[in-house]
Amino acid sequence: MEKIDCYIPETLQEALEILHREDVIILAGGSDLMVFHKNEPSLIPEFEKSVMIIRNLNELKGIRINSNGECEIGALCTSNEIAESTIVPWHLRQAASRMGAVGLRNSATIGGNIANASPKGDMPGPLYLLDARVKLTSLNGSREMLVSDFIIKFKSIDLKKDELITKIIIPYSERDFDYIFWHKVGTRKSNAISKITVGMALKFAEDEIVKDFRLSATSTGAKTNRNRDVENLLIGSKITEENISRVIEAFDQVISPRAMPVFRRESTKRMIRRFLSQCLLHPESRVIDTYDSYYVPGSPKPVFNI
Ligand SMILES: Cc1cc2nc3c(=O)[nH]c(=O)nc-3n(C[C@H](O)[C@H](O)[C@H](O)COP(=O)(O)OP(=O)(O)OC[C@H]3O[C@@H](n4cnc5c(N)ncnc54)[C@H](O)[C@@H]3O)c2cc1C
Repeated sequence: MEKIDCYIPETLQEALEILHREDVIILAGGSDLMVFHKNEPSLIPEFEKSVMIIRNLNELKGIRINSNGECEIGALCTSNEIAESTIVPWHLRQAASRMGAVGLRNSATIGGNIANASPKGDMPGPLYLLDARVKLTSLNGSREMLVSDFIIKFKSIDLKKDELITKIIIPYSERDFDYIFWHKVGTRKSNAISKITVGMALKFAEDEIVKDFRLSATSTGAKTNRNRDVENLLIGSKITEENISRVIEAFDQVISPRAMPVFRRESTKRMIRRFLSQCLLHPESRVIDTYDSYYVPGSPKPVFNI
């Protein structure tokens, strides 16, 4: 086996200098990379080039509210830290709390989940929904972009060779909406890779007119789906049977489930219908609860992680 170098920088500056001069694999929690590079049983994983373990970078840790009232999450924050935080927006807390199982959630980081760019990844759904931005830093400075632009397609991201994801910045939270919804359909309660996950948020203006409506879904194409044209079908209008059907039909054109298309399409439709028709009833609770009838009769019934 060829020898490779392993760097463990202690500061962001040190890490950026290594990235500037070397071609390295960035390793955060390692939960994706160790599986990707796995070897025969009892043999250590095989990496094709040098590895830089970034776990010690304090600059990439911590969750805080910035001076603009936005939630800033360090790229090294784990699923458990995010799920347990009281200042992280509700949708992201739900997603983080349903990832893998307890052990996984102690190592999987938000930076790694975004950089992995899997359409089944749980965190991009809420991040798309809430217009979250990713902060990328190199020796030349920093830039920010929407997470939905950063993830280009399946396993492809807009990250330069000398850049690190340092932060995720979320400008909206559940307090900006009257009603919220998030539901992951998996085949069991833990270690369930998403079959389909839908997040929604809605705010009314006066006279029952919809002021804001957002809808994102994972596991429905080459990357997480959110489509402004679909959302605009409802914004500025009242929720009616006809409008619900128009949203469902339009979103159906956006999603492209390769496997189990009937299951994913039908489940998505049922979740959208449930959310919008519940909003119309103005329930007391901001959270529109889920129920276990989203599966398609005839297909194997999944376990719902409610
Ligand atoms: C058993 C198991 C169950 C899982 N269940 C789920 C699940 O339910 N939902 C889900 O979404 N995922 C799941 N995953 C996938 C994985 O845990 C997540 O994608 C995790 O968030 C990755 O984070 P990490 O820190 O471990 O990434 P790593 O493995 O360290 O890295 C992943 C990728 O991100 C890059 N990277 C990491 N940090 C940075 C950074 N700061 N800047 C630039 N690039 C960076 C790495 O170079 C690599 O390409 C599961 C994995 C396993 C093994």
